[in-house]
Amino acid sequence: MKSLFIKTEKQRNWLEKLALLEEEFKKNAQQIDEQSAFPHAHIQKLRDIGYTKITLPKDLGGDGFTVYDAILLQETLGSYDGSTALSIGWTVLTVGELYENRYWEPAKLTAFAKEVEKGAIINRAVSEAATGSPIRGGRPGTIAKRNGENWVINGRKSYTTGSLELDYFLTSAWIEDEEKIGFFLIHKDTPGVAIEETWDVIAMRGTGSHDLVLNEVRLDASDLVEVPNYTTGFKLNGWLLMIPATYLGIAQAARDYAIQFANTHSPNSIQGTIASLPNVQALLGEIELELAQARFSLYGAAQSYVELKNKERNGHTLTEIESLVIVNAVNVAKHAVTNAAITVVDKAMRIVGAKSLQRTNPLQRYYRDVRAGLHNPPMDDITIKKLAELVLHQNKQS
Ligand SMILES: Cc1cc2nc3c(=O)[nH]c(=O)nc-3n(C[C@H](O)[C@H](O)[C@H](O)COP(=O)(O)OP(=O)(O)OC[C@H]3O[C@@H](n4cnc5c(N)ncnc54)[C@H](O)[C@@H]3O)c2cc1C
Repeated sequence: MKSLFIKTEKQRNWLEKLALLEEEFKKNAQQIDEQSAFPHAHIQKLRDIGYTKITLPKDLGGDGFTVYDAILLQETLGSYDGSTALSIGWTVLTVGELYENRYWEPAKLTAFAKEVEKGAIINRAVSEAATGSPIRGGRPGTIAKRNGENWVINGRKSYTTGSLELDYFLTSAWIEDEEKIGFFLIHKDTPGVAIEETWDVIAMRGTGSHDLVLNEVRLDASDLVEVPNYTTGFKLNGWLLMIPATYLGIAQAARDYAIQFANTHSPNSIQGTIASLPNVQALLGEIELELAQARFSLYGAAQSYVELKNKERNGHTLTEIESLVIVNAVNVAKHAVTNAAITVVDKAMRIVGAKSLQRTNPLQRYYRDVRAGLHNPPMDDITIKKLAELVLHQNKQS
């Protein structure tokens, strides 16, 4: 089914390149999970093959991948090792988003592109214990204060995926004097930057999503790189599809395992394998249905987003409704994929039976990992609310 969505030679070549890492990543996944160990070696391999710069524009040294191209790879990586995929996914997402929208000053973007070209990785550090998910609009407790020509930042961010390996933290902070949120580009070696290893969870255990602690971190004036101003109260960001793509990959791995099991498990109560049984075939068919629905939703949203952004590049000014429709398409895809992933793993476990509960069985890891998708943005209730808001808004206008 995935093959339906592979459209170009460039995508095919990259999938072949990734496939060279499949065996090693899959082999290490269990240990990464058991030890809650950050997959440093995997990230290095991905830096080495240039995965970290696939979404950097071509003229700046990258591959210039669109969201659509990138999710194909991200899904594949998710099927090898979810933790590795999510950790690197944030870089691919952030770089894609930054250079598509050119949020920063040109000089800063050019300088940072050189870093990405050399393999630097980045993530947004926005969540905090007190605010919860930043998507709900809470004000950061992390504070930025001017000190002459500098900024001084103090605070603590939670859930910073990839923290042990990131070169840059794109960190939100409350600028007290101006009463607004700003994003600051912070290099890992800046004095006052520390990681506190707080990530002790049951899902995506290898993502190193620890706390980032900022203590009197002094930055240059130019390190305030973004001051968000979403006049319409939302942000159009199709790059977020990198996240559900990761969970789709995990679901695919569960499906592959269940098929392999069904084709080989042969209890002595039947002739042949359990793959011939109607109850098992029904579950397999339902898994395929879930995956197909999830893929059409994910790749459809990505395609629509890419087309809209192309129109914008060609001089079209997006209307509010056009933007809202795509925001909703992206949200719907995230909702559909993450929930399908949970269902797929559940059905795969029913096929395999009690053996799926063994600690050495990958299905129990997938079962835990896909739950994390629910708590990545946007959360399901937000998606549902925005759908209702748009339909009511459109109804009022007509
Ligand atoms: C694997 C993983 C990786 C992550 N990586 C990153 C990362 O790299 N960077 C980063 O910044 N964050 C990251 N996060 C954090 C994530 O984006 C969320 O901020 C975090 O999961 C907290 O969201 P929450 O919904 O649990 O928390 P909360 O927002 O505290 O919500 C808790 C509960 O309260 C409800 N609730 C809270 N506020 C409202 C409200 N205003 N309206 C309605 N309901 C509300 C929610 O529905 C939910 O039921 C990661 C999370 C996970 C699980």
